Amino acid sequence: MSIPPTLITPGLAGAPTDVDVVVVGLGVTGAGVALDAASRGLRVLAVDAHDLAFGTSRFSSKLVHGGLRYLASGQVGIAHESAVERGILMDVTAPHLTRPLPSLIPLAPSVSRPMGLLAGAGFLGGDLLRRAARTSADTLPRPRRLSAAETRRLAPPLRTHGLRGGLLGWDGQLEDDARLVTAIARTAAQQGAAVHTHARVLSATGSSVELRDELTGATLQVACRSVINAAGVWAGDLVDDVRLRPSRGTHLVLRAEALPRLSVAVFAPIPGETNRFVLVLPQPDGQFYVGLTDEPVDGPVPDVAEPTEVEIGFLLDVVSASFARPLHRSDVVGAFAGLRPLLDTSSGGEDASGGGTADLSRKHAVLTSPDGVVTIVGGKLTTYRRMAEDAVDAAILASGLRTGPCVTARLPLAGAAPREALAEDAARAGHPGRARLVRRYGADAGLALAAAVEASGWAEDDLLAPIVPDCPTIPTVWVELFFGITHEGAADAADLLDRRTRIGLVPADRELAVPAAERALEVVAAHR
Ligand SMILES: Cc1cc2nc3c(=O)[nH]c(=O)nc-3n(C[C@H](O)[C@H](O)[C@H](O)COP(=O)(O)OP(=O)(O)OC[C@H]3O[C@@H](n4cnc5c(N)ncnc54)[C@H](O)[C@@H]3O)c2cc1C
Repeated sequence: MSIPPTLITPGLAGAPTDVDVVVVGLGVTGAGVALDAASRGLRVLAVDAHDLAFGTSRFSSKLVHGGLRYLASGQVGIAHESAVERGILMDVTAPHLTRPLPSLIPLAPSVSRPMGLLAGAGFLGGDLLRRAARTSADTLPRPRRLSAAETRRLAPPLRTHGLRGGLLGWDGQLEDDARLVTAIARTAAQQGAAVHTHARVLSATGSSVELRDELTGATLQVACRSVINAAGVWAGDLVDDVRLRPSRGTHLVLRAEALPRLSVAVFAPIPGETNRFVLVLPQPDGQFYVGLTDEPVDGPVPDVAEPTEVEIGFLLDVVSASFARPLHRSDVVGAFAGLRPLLDTSSGGEDASGGGTADLSRKHAVLTSPDGVVTIVGGKLTTYRRMAEDAVDAAILASGLRTGPCVTARLPLAGAAPREALAEDAARAGHPGRARLVRRYGADAGLALAAAVEASGWAEDDLLAPIVPDCPTIPTVWVELFFGITHEGAADAADLLDRRTRIGLVPADRELAVPAAERALEVVAAHR
C-alpha cells in the first residue's frame, strides 16, 4: 500500500542545493517567512535544527493579542499593527485555529476603584483598536461591566468576599501555538517551499549555507541568493552583529479539577502593582495555563528552558489570592518556560518602522548583516505574518531578487474555513474523535483521517479512539499521531508528543503516551 507523500521532510534527503532563499529556523517566524517567500514565487529551502516549533513558539501563552500593551505605552502604530494582524488571523488565515476568548478582571477588594477604572479604560481602548482594525464585534464582542452576580456565574471558583463585579473583555486564543506553526509550514510546503526538519545550519553567508542532517550527520552545501535568519533566541549564533538578551516566561499547567466550571480567562492582580496581572487561561482540552513571569536569562541559551520553583511559587501565590480555594504545588501537573527573543539594542538594529531601537522588546527588528544575511527577531506570534513580509522585503532589497508583492494577508492556511462552518461540521461529526479532528485540523480533518487510514491500514473507529484508553486527560486520537508522521514531518516520539500534540506539557501523561507514539512510528515505517 502506498501512503501519501509527506510535505515536510525530516533530515536533508531530497533537499535542493540551489535556491533563491534559505530560511533558518521553523518557529512561527521562519515558517511565516518560508510561506511569504514561496507564495511570492521564490524557490525556498526552510530548515530547523530540531523540529517545527521546537523553540519559543511552543511555549507561548497561546493568545492572539490585540496590542493593548502598546496602546498603554503610547505606541499607537504598533498597537494598530497587532490588532490588524489579529483580525487577519482570526477572520482570514486561521479561523480554524483561533477563537474568541472571554477575559475577566474580577473587581475584588485588591483592585482599588482607580485601578478598576484604569482597567476598564484599557478594555475600551482595546475595543477601539478592534474597530480601527475593522475586526467585527461578531468575531470579538465589545467589553462590558458585569454585576457581582454575573461575575460569580461566569467564574464560580472566584473568591466572592468583597467582589464588586467584573470587567469582561475579549481577545483571540489559539487552539495551540505549535499547531499554528505546523499549519503555516504545511502551507509553505503546499506553495512549493522545501521544508526540512532535523537539519541544522552550521554557517551562513548571504549566498550560501552549510547544513548538517541531524539524523545522519551528513553535511550539505546550498547555494542561494539570500539567507533569512529566523533562529529566535539562537539568531546571534549565526551572525556576529546580532546580540540577544533573552528573558524567561513561565507558565503552570493545572488540571480542570483545580478550578471547576471556570470557562473564562481570569486576570489575577499582582499585589502591589497597578496594572499587572497573572493570567489564568482555560485550554481546549480542559486544562488551565497560569502565567507568566519575566526573568532575565544570563549565560548560554539552553535548548529548552526550565521553570524555577521560585517562579512556580510566585504564580501560585498570586492566583490563589483571587480564588476561594488556594492552589497548591500538588495542583501543578506541568510547567513550561519560553525565552523571549529580545534584541540587545546596543547591537544597533533598527526596528521595522525604521525608528530608533528603544523598547524593541515586543517589536520586531529586521537587520541586514554586511554579508547580506537578513535576521528577523523579536515580535510575537500574533504578528508573524507582518514580520515575515518585512523580512522578505528586506531580503529582496539586499539580493536584487525579483518577485511579486506579498500575498499572505489573503492566503488562508492549510485547513482554514469559516468558524461557523467548522462548528457545524463538528456538531454533525457524531463522534467525539471526529469533532476533535475538526478542532485541530479544520477543513483538513477528513484528509487527516484518510491519510491515517492509508498509512496504518486500520479501521476508522480504531483511528478515532484515544491513544491511551480510559485516560480522560489524554483525549488525543490515533489519527493525530499518524497524520503527524505522514503530513507534518514528525520523525520521533518527541516530535509527536511535544509538538504535533501537546501531551508532553504534563510529564505524567507523556509517559503514558510514549508507547502509542512509538507504535504509530513503527506502523508507518512498516507500511513504507
Ligand atoms: C512565555 C512567552 C509567552 C508568549 N506569549 C505570546 C502570546 O500569547 N501571543 C503572542 O503573540 N506572542 C507570545 N509570545 C511571543 C512569541 O512566542 C515569540 O515571539 C515567537 O514564538 C518567536 O518565534 P520565533 O520563530 O522567532 O523563534 P522560535 O520559536 O524560538 O524559533 C526559532 C527556531 O530556530 C531553530 N534554530 C536555531 N538555530 C538554528 C540553526 N542553526 N539551524 C536551523 N534551525 C535553527 C530552533 O530550533 C527554533 O525552532 C510569548 C513569548 C514567550 C517567551
